[in-house]
Amino acid sequence: MSSLNPRATTEPAGGLLLQVWLIPVLRDNYVFVLQRGREAVVVDPAVDQPVAAALKARDLQLQAILHTHHHSDHIGGTPGLLQVWPQAQVIAAAADRSRIPLQTKGVSDGDSFQLLGETIKVLAVPGHTRAHLAYWLPGSGHLFCGDTLFAAGCGRLFEGSAEQMHTSLQRLGALPAATQVWCTHEYTEGNLRWASAVAPNDGPIADRLDQVLQQRAAGHFTVPTSIGLEKSTNLFVRASTDAELAALRGHKDGWSG
Ligand SMILES: [Zn+2]
Repeated sequence: MSSLNPRATTEPAGGLLLQVWLIPVLRDNYVFVLQRGREAVVVDPAVDQPVAAALKARDLQLQAILHTHHHSDHIGGTPGLLQVWPQAQVIAAAADRSRIPLQTKGVSDGDSFQLLGETIKVLAVPGHTRAHLAYWLPGSGHLFCGDTLFAAGCGRLFEGSAEQMHTSLQRLGALPAATQVWCTHEYTEGNLRWASAVAPNDGPIADRLDQVLQQRAAGHFTVPTSIGLEKSTNLFVRASTDAELAALRGHKDGWSG
């Protein structure tokens, strides 16, 4: 599979296409690149060298790095990228400045800012960590949600409560159904194997598992997903109460397949 495979494009008012593509790194991480013309923004660079190489191969200038949360597999590449592009902005949760160093712009829930001609809205989605953020591009319909919402899953509750995760997932679930969801790990097959064990008679989940098994066997990525698909097949998004989400999360934490 190509690490430079364009995955989604949208037509902006100005003419140049916005492209969003991904770079698979480490065991199952994705680093996302937003590109318009020769300018790029990177989301959650776990490592620097494959990202820098991919940008240089396309002759791109890095304008900014976005961080969803402080875990090392989301921020580890930032110092190295800043050595190559020292003028790049580093945007992350102001509330997590001590754990996400090198910030040039601290943001919080409700903020919005402009990059690559796009409006980017900041959504606080605590649960996995206490200051986890998601970045939503309402104009082009992209969402970068880190380790909060996964394809058919959600992040572990390291610092937050089931109530917080439930609220965060409901908030993301309220975005337009066509929103392209770029989650940071390729966990989809395992998530659906678990979901189909928990809900063996669920047709949409069974159908999605079949499809994902074919995609993975062919070496394809299963990211991005969409809000609409998650609302129909993600048990955590479908959970109607905090208690239901807590029970699902606890079951999955102890599940070994
Ligand atoms: Zn994480």
